[in-house]
Amino acid sequence: MTRRTEIAERLLDVQERIAVAAKKAQRDPSEITLIAVTKSFPISDIEILSQLGVQEFGENRDSDAAPKAAAVPGRWHFQGQIQSNKLKSICSWAHVIHSLDELRHFEVIEKFATHPLEIFLQVNLDGLAERGGAAIESLYPLASIIQAHPVHRLAGLMAVAPLGIDPEIAFGNLHEIQRGFLRDFPSAKSLSAGMSQDFETAISHGATHLRIGSQIMGSR
Ligand SMILES: *Cc1c(COP(=O)(O)O)cnc(C)c1O
Repeated sequence: MTRRTEIAERLLDVQERIAVAAKKAQRDPSEITLIAVTKSFPISDIEILSQLGVQEFGENRDSDAAPKAAAVPGRWHFQGQIQSNKLKSICSWAHVIHSLDELRHFEVIEKFATHPLEIFLQVNLDGLAERGGAAIESLYPLASIIQAHPVHRLAGLMAVAPLGIDPEIAFGNLHEIQRGFLRDFPSAKSLSAGMSQDFETAISHGATHLRIGSQIMGSR
């Protein structure tokens, strides 16, 4: 099997599973965006995805992502833990940032971004901050500042299901947190949740942006 056939089959399988899960949750599949997470995979794979019609790509590390984004046109998402010293570069290639959790990072974005960014705030669901994100209370003031910003747009919330916790419970909590958040920020409707192992559960709890790597690309 060629790499192209392998990726095409895996992609189709994921797209079909998304459609089924959306139907089951009585949701319109067109409100769900699939982001192909291409971290650790080469530009040649991303070109295949692009030929297959994928336009949304997700990466975790600035140094890996910058050359990929320069090589393949699309909408590029940054979802890794933010390091301040990389943020200026991230702002040069990313269109969407999923992992903002501190005001000082937004201040760097304000200073250096040369195009409008869409920003998700990462909520920590386990209180351990192991996989990034902050407690929802501390994200409210940050959300107010981004929402009032004339250039950048507050998209919504993002979370990763904590290791060792049933994603059904984690994403159920997230959905509840989002309901509260939407009362204060009704236009920040997006919810970035769901990876290879748990995206169907995320869809059942309102995810609008799925970040899927290995299920499309194969094991890393
Ligand atoms: C790696 C990663 C993904 C994709 O993970 P898969 O299990 O390969 O689908 C999604 N979101 C974040 C934040 C990641 O680090």
